[in-house]
Amino acid sequence: KVKKDKMTILVLGLNNSGKSTIVNHFKKSSEQVAIMVPTVGFLVEQFYTNNVSINAIDMSGATRYRNLWEHQFKNCQGIMYVIDSSDRMRFVVVKDELELVLQHPDVSNRTVPILFYGNKSDLEDSLSNVKIAAALGLEKIKEKPWHICSSNAISGEGLDEGVQWLVQQIR
Ligand code: GDP
Repeated sequence: KVKKDKMTILVLGLNNSGKSTIVNHFKKSSEQVAIMVPTVGFLVEQFYTNNVSINAIDMSGATRYRNLWEHQFKNCQGIMYVIDSSDRMRFVVVKDELELVLQHPDVSNRTVPILFYGNKSDLEDSLSNVKIAAALGLEKIKEKPWHICSSNAISGEGLDEGVQWLVQQIR
């Protein structure tokens, strides 16, 4: 097992799902000084703190960079998959992108825990976790631990609960 203090977490999701807001929350709540790395192309955010590296990647529009960021799968110990729970129009895209992740050899051959954030749960037309899980077919993920958590990245609600689950799986 990987030690908690040597951890790389990959934050994936479509643009506008809330990745930067989530990463900023963890930056603020971290007592250590975060070292920022300039972002390039597909990379939304990257920072190191407490020996934890958090890399956030925009999956939408990043198709041409896919081979550049997919190599990060083999180095990560956990995945955060951020979903805009009010963006029903793009659930199909979210599902397709998730399938590509799950089928990738560096993910499918390892037991990487996946935390889903049903983000923007404060919005009126947001879908419940149960409905998101059904829409994305999460019950089909049998080989790895996964968990879905409602979040409001702006208020921070749900974020710590989710990351605690993820860290427990890695520890
Ligand atoms: P990214 O493209 O995935 O990095 O998404 P951002 O973090 O930039 O967020 C996109 C937009 O959604 C911004 O205007 C955020 O303020 C907003 N946003 C992020 N999380 C939430 C949330 O939980 N609730 C609401 N209402 N808005 C959010």
